Amino acid sequence: MGSRKISFNLADATPHICIVGAGISGLRSADILLQQGFQVTMLEGRDRIGGRHATGNRHPIRDLAIATNTPLHHWNSKQNIYTSSGELLLDEKASELSTLLWDIIEEAFEYSKKNEKSIPECASLYDYVAVRVKEKLPGQVGDQKLILSMSEMWGAYVGHPITRQSLRFAWMEECCGGEELFIETTYKAILDRIAELPLEKADIRLEERVVKVQTPRDRDAGKISVTTEKGEHLLFDEVLMTTPLGWLKQHKDVAFAPPLPPRICSAIDAISVGHLEKVYITFPLAFWTDDQADDFAGYTNWLSPEYAPETNPRCWPQEIWNLASFSPENRRPTILFYLYGECSNYIINLVHGKCSEEHYSLLDAFFRPYYSLLPNFSSYDENCKPKAILSTEWQKDEMSGYGSYCNFQVGMKEADEDVKAIRKGCPERRLWFAGEHTAPFEELGTAVGAYMSGEALAQRMLEMYLTR
Ligand SMILES: Cc1cc2nc3c(=O)[nH]c(=O)nc-3n(C[C@H](O)[C@H](O)[C@H](O)COP(=O)(O)OP(=O)(O)OC[C@H]3O[C@@H](n4cnc5c(N)ncnc54)[C@H](O)[C@@H]3O)c2cc1C
Repeated sequence: MGSRKISFNLADATPHICIVGAGISGLRSADILLQQGFQVTMLEGRDRIGGRHATGNRHPIRDLAIATNTPLHHWNSKQNIYTSSGELLLDEKASELSTLLWDIIEEAFEYSKKNEKSIPECASLYDYVAVRVKEKLPGQVGDQKLILSMSEMWGAYVGHPITRQSLRFAWMEECCGGEELFIETTYKAILDRIAELPLEKADIRLEERVVKVQTPRDRDAGKISVTTEKGEHLLFDEVLMTTPLGWLKQHKDVAFAPPLPPRICSAIDAISVGHLEKVYITFPLAFWTDDQADDFAGYTNWLSPEYAPETNPRCWPQEIWNLASFSPENRRPTILFYLYGECSNYIINLVHGKCSEEHYSLLDAFFRPYYSLLPNFSSYDENCKPKAILSTEWQKDEMSGYGSYCNFQVGMKEADEDVKAIRKGCPERRLWFAGEHTAPFEELGTAVGAYMSGEALAQRMLEMYLTR
């Protein structure tokens, strides 16, 4: 941001901006607008700020992590791959196949970038991998099958199976590649930094769920009005909606009057919301590893398991990250499962509303076939019995838009134009949109993307007031 500060003409009142949602994007917009002297009111439906929390990140959130001494973890390159019969692949084999798979995915990004709209809408990333793996490993049917099975890990990046990932718009998911950094502790210090100025200077109103936004016909037709669930009507100069895409999908037809322009509605309908969920299983001790943090793979993948027909008849693959490999002060005897698509849907419905004993026993029964294959497991050893199991339920959460974050599925015709349409918003009606679903293309769906979208939006608003 430049240091130029807007001084408002005495005849004008200070512009009063309403930001709906105090997640990363809303807070970042507020920060910039407040620095420039705008008056900001934030209406947040939850009883806390921060929105959907993130765990893995890149710049500029990484810079904030460093500035706030938030420990970042670089996963080791080791990985354990169990085949569908529960056999552990040799390390060299696992790493050779995984390297090949990631090479093919990188190629797919390039192919998608280059050919974009000439690629049929129905083509998936899986289709691409299937063709390329045959070309790269001619005649090696066993390895071809293994790579195709391993490619299902894509689902844990976007929240839906790789067979649903649009090849045409795979380039818009490129943020899923590259080095992964994982925040070892919580997001708190980073959030505190982003929220510092908004907490000091904005009027942040928690537990204020917005239910209606009444926009003027044009900018000369008056202010924009916001109605909260408590029935309060508030008037503002501009309204920035940072509610998640899933919220917009569910509420757009009733929440905006007059209705949103058809192009924005079709964009909201066309982009999907992923179903990523996490399950944390904590043991008394990290039985699978010794005291050396890095002796055990950061990542373990159980490919289409055929050995748990009672709990997992559809053979949904499972994968974990090993939180016992963190730096000594943050190390935890915990494995973190990432679930997506039908599996996450099934698990969430299985445990939703259950008492804690039932929650524990249902999840333990589901995940035991996998963690019991980890080294040193013994069903007689108390250290191999989970001490606690936590699971997320983003899909049940209206404030999160009933899901994790945006993704781009097969059948999409013009995902890039859809994002641009929402990002553009309706400034002519004093209505704007920000959030991870409006982020720069290379960061869609991420915390960094949310941050950058808030920043870009605030800058556009500033530009508009500067050039008036
Ligand atoms: C399971 C999961 C894993 C993820 N993993 C990663 C990762 O590894 N790396 C990464 O970079 N990102 C990850 N993300 C994505 C990242 O968390 C989001 O992109 C980012 O937090 C979104 O910020 P936002 O400001 O766009 O939206 P939000 O944080 O959702 O903010 C929107 C705010 O609006 C509020 N709100 C909603 N409706 C209303 C209403 N009607 N009235 C008032 N307030 C309302 C909500 O409560 C919320 O606070 C993950 C997300 C999930 C769910």
